[in-house]
Amino acid sequence: MNFSEDKHRTRTQRRYGANRLARMAQHWQSCRQIYPCPKCGRPFEWTYNLQYHLKFACGQSPRFNCPYCAFRTKHTSNVRAHIRRKHPGSEVYVVDVLAWQQRNATLA
Ligand SMILES: [Zn+2]
Ligand SMILES: [Zn+2]
Repeated sequence: MNFSEDKHRTRTQRRYGANRLARMAQHWQSCRQIYPCPKCGRPFEWTYNLQYHLKFACGQSPRFNCPYCAFRTKHTSNVRAHIRRKHPGSEVYVVDVLAWQQRNATLA
């Protein structure tokens, strides 16, 4: 006879089930949500990625330069990876071209 088992399950479900399931559903929904860039349509899973992309990457020329060669990219992490790969033994730092240009502009 399954009656007592069912009763038990209902009670546990009532205790943990509803809220937790709702939270899980919310979580999965937010995970599956895609935020396309309004400018270029590139899809992002997280709003902060999209915000970063809009602020630093979308429609902008690459602003981070390798200090040892002409390599330029939109992300500082790319420069660091590039230095480790192409200039082993060199100090790893990033030249921010935009900030450099702005500094020169205020000086001039
Ligand atoms: Zn974009
Ligand atoms: Zn380089």
